[in-house]
Amino acid sequence: MTTLSVRLTDSPADDATRAALLADPGFGTLFGEHMVRIDYREGEGWGPGSLEPYASLSLSPAAMVFHYAQAVFEGLKAYRLADGGVGVFRPDANAARLNRSAARLAIPALPPERFLEAIDALVTADAAWVPNGEGQSLYLRPLVIATEPALVVRPSREYTFLLFDSPSGAYFARGVKPVTVWVSEDYARAAPGGTGFAKAAGNYAASLVAQRQAQEAGCDQVVWLDAIERTTVEEMGGMNLFFVLGEGADATLVTPELTGTLLPGVTRDSVLTLARDRGLRVEERRVTMDEWRATNADLSMTEAFACGTAAVITPIGHVRTRSDEFRIADGEPGPVATALRADLLGIQHGRLPDRHGWVRRVV
Ligand SMILES: *Cc1c(COP(=O)(O)O)cnc(C)c1O
Repeated sequence: MTTLSVRLTDSPADDATRAALLADPGFGTLFGEHMVRIDYREGEGWGPGSLEPYASLSLSPAAMVFHYAQAVFEGLKAYRLADGGVGVFRPDANAARLNRSAARLAIPALPPERFLEAIDALVTADAAWVPNGEGQSLYLRPLVIATEPALVVRPSREYTFLLFDSPSGAYFARGVKPVTVWVSEDYARAAPGGTGFAKAAGNYAASLVAQRQAQEAGCDQVVWLDAIERTTVEEMGGMNLFFVLGEGADATLVTPELTGTLLPGVTRDSVLTLARDRGLRVEERRVTMDEWRATNADLSMTEAFACGTAAVITPIGHVRTRSDEFRIADGEPGPVATALRADLLGIQHGRLPDRHGWVRRVV
């Protein structure tokens, strides 16, 4: 039973048009035909909400989100399953994280069942937009923004939850080719006591100049260090980092521990679980740049990779800083990253048993 009112588009794309668009959807530029909107007012709570045709919004220029960045978002994916159905990967984890982010930005919580109801309604309405190809998906973007028109600095009394979708191919145009990363020594992403653990829009705004610097240095992505000592490795762009020390039965998977300045990725958690399922040793702990250099130099580091919803698992081939550059092992995708990527995609596409109950079947 849904409380959402439903108004479907009266001009759906025909099959040929949709097939042409889905043949090469790119990432994040093609949008589905519907969205969910739920409005909040202080004193009234979250309203009934609606599933409606995807369209632009009308907001006051004084809407608080434009001035004080009271905005949180999420990212998750619906996949075409092997039997032709559609499953969403771990939406309950995203519902919970949205509320942890919201709490940090003084935004009211959205009951997780309302989040899941929105996901089910949107994915059902736009099911024809879930692409078929391996690694392709319907990317889902939930967000909450402060909509009250007021310039005083305090939490907004009005919010809008939105959920829309974007049929997507590979996030990195070069596929699973290893990326070259730029270790940012000039900028910090997140400081203790700040918003690093929250999926806050402002975290991304603050990262863009570093990402541009990385590109100017010939790199694909930024690696962030801790803001205080500038020695501890935290994340890569919008993805969590993993390192493999040793190989074969002796391999240990290491990932930076969650300190409050890292974003606790759903993919990170899934990779840790799948690695343990495979019998790998797993460590969540501090990793410094000195250790990264040293284990790479003495060849004990066999792989480094990053993971996140958008790109799933991306190997790291080269690391560049202002003072040096080094290659990870032979610079090619390693066996651990490749196996974990296959495990994840296999579960997401319903080809492997879903032992942890991660896939929410919608269609
Ligand atoms: C979203 C995000 C991640 C990855 O989280 P997933 O839930 O795996 O998609 C990692 N780091 C940052 C900074 C992020 O915003």
